Amino acid sequence: MIRRAALAFLLASVMGGIPFREAARAQPLPSLTQEGLEALTLAKESISLRSVAGPGNRTPDVAGLYRRALIAGGFPPGAIAIARVGDTAYLVFRWAGQTHGLKPLVISGHMDVVAANPADWTRDPFTPIVEEGYLYGRGATDMKLSNALVITALVNLHRHGYRPRRDIVLALSGDEETAMVTSRILAEKLHDAGMVLNIDVGGGTLDEKTGQPLYFVWSGAEKTYADYRLVVTDPGGHSSEPRARNAIDVLARALIRVETHEFTPELNALTRSYFVNAARLSPAPLAAAMRAFAASPGDRKAIATLRAEPSLTGMIGTTCVVTTVRGGHALNALPQRAEANINCRIFPGHSRRDILHELSAAIGDGSVKITDETANSVETDASPLDPVFSSAISEAADAAFPDVPVFPGMSAGASDSMWFRQRGVPSYGASPIFIKASDNFSHGLNERSPLSTITPGMHYFESLIPALSR
Ligand SMILES: [Zn+2]
Repeated sequence: MIRRAALAFLLASVMGGIPFREAARAQPLPSLTQEGLEALTLAKESISLRSVAGPGNRTPDVAGLYRRALIAGGFPPGAIAIARVGDTAYLVFRWAGQTHGLKPLVISGHMDVVAANPADWTRDPFTPIVEEGYLYGRGATDMKLSNALVITALVNLHRHGYRPRRDIVLALSGDEETAMVTSRILAEKLHDAGMVLNIDVGGGTLDEKTGQPLYFVWSGAEKTYADYRLVVTDPGGHSSEPRARNAIDVLARALIRVETHEFTPELNALTRSYFVNAARLSPAPLAAAMRAFAASPGDRKAIATLRAEPSLTGMIGTTCVVTTVRGGHALNALPQRAEANINCRIFPGHSRRDILHELSAAIGDGSVKITDETANSVETDASPLDPVFSSAISEAADAAFPDVPVFPGMSAGASDSMWFRQRGVPSYGASPIFIKASDNFSHGLNERSPLSTITPGMHYFESLIPALSR
């Protein structure tokens, strides 16, 4: 899944990148406790298992590693189930609560990682390396360090005698980055959950210069992913005899109408809160636009300012862009077919069908066929602004990251949360990782997380999990 909220990218672009060497040297080397070292070791062991979809997928081995860590921490083997699905697997660990009849707290994450080509990396992606205050490797950010932190925190809580009131279920999927088959199975199996804490989404941002925590954003909603295909067909003919209608020209006109179509800017409780809070941390012209938009989503000047910022335009409404185009079959023939893919990120509260109709009306040409070709996505509304969750997260963040502003936001990407939200289970994204925007290479090259995030991240879980299991 994507990780940071929009503001991180914004601040990075405002502050400019710091050269890697300098950034690495500026990173203070933290001293780790015994428990911190255990979490780091678990993270390194999991990174060395190449849990990439396809031949040689070692996700089942990652599940086995986590199972052994939980058993070594004192949990009964019978509480941990691993199920194979194709070349991958999912893991469900249930820590039984003291009181019967309470809805379980589900902690959601994933064990698979995005593919990484070693030839493109400076260091081997599947050989974990600790260097200059960072843990390097595929999954260091997305999301094997988070898994290691939550498992270590659960073990620590258990060791210190904590017993939850309600069941705590750790649900780790095995193909979140690809087909999401295990994601769907887990949401189906755990549809009776009271709440989902998704530790793959949201999280903290470190100051680019000082490396100190700047703010922490949790996510209560995500946009819906959609792909629509536009197809124009024509009998075609000899290119020496042009006709009034040309399939590629018709498609081109349709694409321009999609480009110029303006979806209505909108706000929900989460994005309003995000803009109000982010305004305090943003440079003047943007801060003013954020405040104005939060007060009135019809403010044209504010809309223009926010739309001009790529990391924020997705926060103010649905967006659709053309991502691929194909057409024609010969250099000397009138095209018989032209097609394009329109990728949309739909603001919560609208269906894919609504957006298809809106696009179709904007194009206004019945000869352009538009179909919904979306795979692996469902429409979801924002989870409610639950006072139990918001006070628990503020409390836990305050204990682990004192004086750091905490506020909710909305994710532009998709995660396992959508499968739970689809079933009416509220899901909140709140990753333990604090990272600089310029250090966030999840899905990309040379992925790394600062070691400084380990100790506070573990403390955060040790506060948050009991607060949510009351
Ligand atoms: Zn992820």
